[in-house]
Amino acid sequence: MDIYEMLNTDIKINMAFGYPGSEPLQHKKISKILHESIINEGEAALQYTPATGLSYVRKTIKDYLINKGIVMNEYDELILTPGGMSSIYYTFFSILNPKDYIVVESPTFTGALDAIKFVKAKPLPIDIDEDGLKVDNLEYNIKKAINDGNKVKAIYTNPTAHNPTGVIMSDDRRKQLIEIANKYDILVIEDDPYGFFVFDTDKRFTSLKTLDSEGRVIYMGTFSKILAPGLRLGYIIANKIITDAIESMITITAINPSTLSQYIAMYAIKEGVVDETIENARKVYRKKRDVLIESLEEYMPSGSEWYKPKGGLFAFVYLPKEVDTTEMLPKAIERGVAYVPGRNFFADGSGSNAMRVNFSYPSIDKLKEGIKIIGETAKEIIK
Ligand SMILES: *Cc1c(COP(=O)(O)O)cnc(C)c1O
Repeated sequence: MDIYEMLNTDIKINMAFGYPGSEPLQHKKISKILHESIINEGEAALQYTPATGLSYVRKTIKDYLINKGIVMNEYDELILTPGGMSSIYYTFFSILNPKDYIVVESPTFTGALDAIKFVKAKPLPIDIDEDGLKVDNLEYNIKKAINDGNKVKAIYTNPTAHNPTGVIMSDDRRKQLIEIANKYDILVIEDDPYGFFVFDTDKRFTSLKTLDSEGRVIYMGTFSKILAPGLRLGYIIANKIITDAIESMITITAINPSTLSQYIAMYAIKEGVVDETIENARKVYRKKRDVLIESLEEYMPSGSEWYKPKGGLFAFVYLPKEVDTTEMLPKAIERGVAYVPGRNFFADGSGSNAMRVNFSYPSIDKLKEGIKIIGETAKEIIK
């Protein structure tokens, strides 16, 4: 059985899922908004739309993002897409040729690694630490790849509440990253599903898009984590050359992002439901993050390490070297707990002793129990 099959079985405490926790979801309000959309908008709510979304929906989202501190420049357009994952594929198809290199954080979002493989490009992994991507290593590795005759086209980064570690890239590094991208004429893909619900507000961070003066940052967001993943609605802010290319792809593959989802997102922004979801998510997930950290301290074998997530849904835990988390997974599943083995997040096959756990989805009791079971299972392997 491969890991995706294993994770699809019925599991009591599923910490492998990418699902956001259900507490912040605003069932009643979204239901009211949906009803309102169809009544107020009439046929338009049930029709096709332009490929990149209705202009007034785009305008509402654009104003919302500007209000949140994202600064666009004169070359930029905001378009809607059928979700963040499709934004990644459309963008990679638009800018990457087979064999092109794309810088990724190491570890990085599995979905991005899969997409890189799909377009036959090559990942160039750069280590991270508590302050995000280690920019010191970045220029050296880019130069090396170029000297070896390769094209380095883009940097894919999830700088804020990074999936899978939850770290935030420091502003100094963000500025250096943009400088390097400018110097070597490299595009920057800023994947930002979590930027609006960071838990600890002590650390200030500036969106890479805001730091971008040359129109080379492709900013991606999604309503999945700030309203509801079921809407399948995302957005991209990028240079018009890129949004035009993506527009053609949406036209031929999807026609348009869901019309109903566009209206729901627009009304949800206007009626404060997005902000309410974000506020609830911050509170609930922060509490769960704290419970997770306490449980890790209590139950993980000594020598284990982890990042304290500053936001998002996930934590990344390193167990002692002798624990192979891929081999351990069937044992954990037998005991009713699932996680994602660390190898899936690395382009170079490392991470054999790491795991990603989703702390936002399980209840607090299940979270404690899940970590206890993982800890016990790991300790049995070490003995
Ligand atoms: C959740 C997530 C996305 C997008 O998810 P969609 O549901 O497809 O919008 C993109 N990137 C990262 C890092 C994510 O965690």
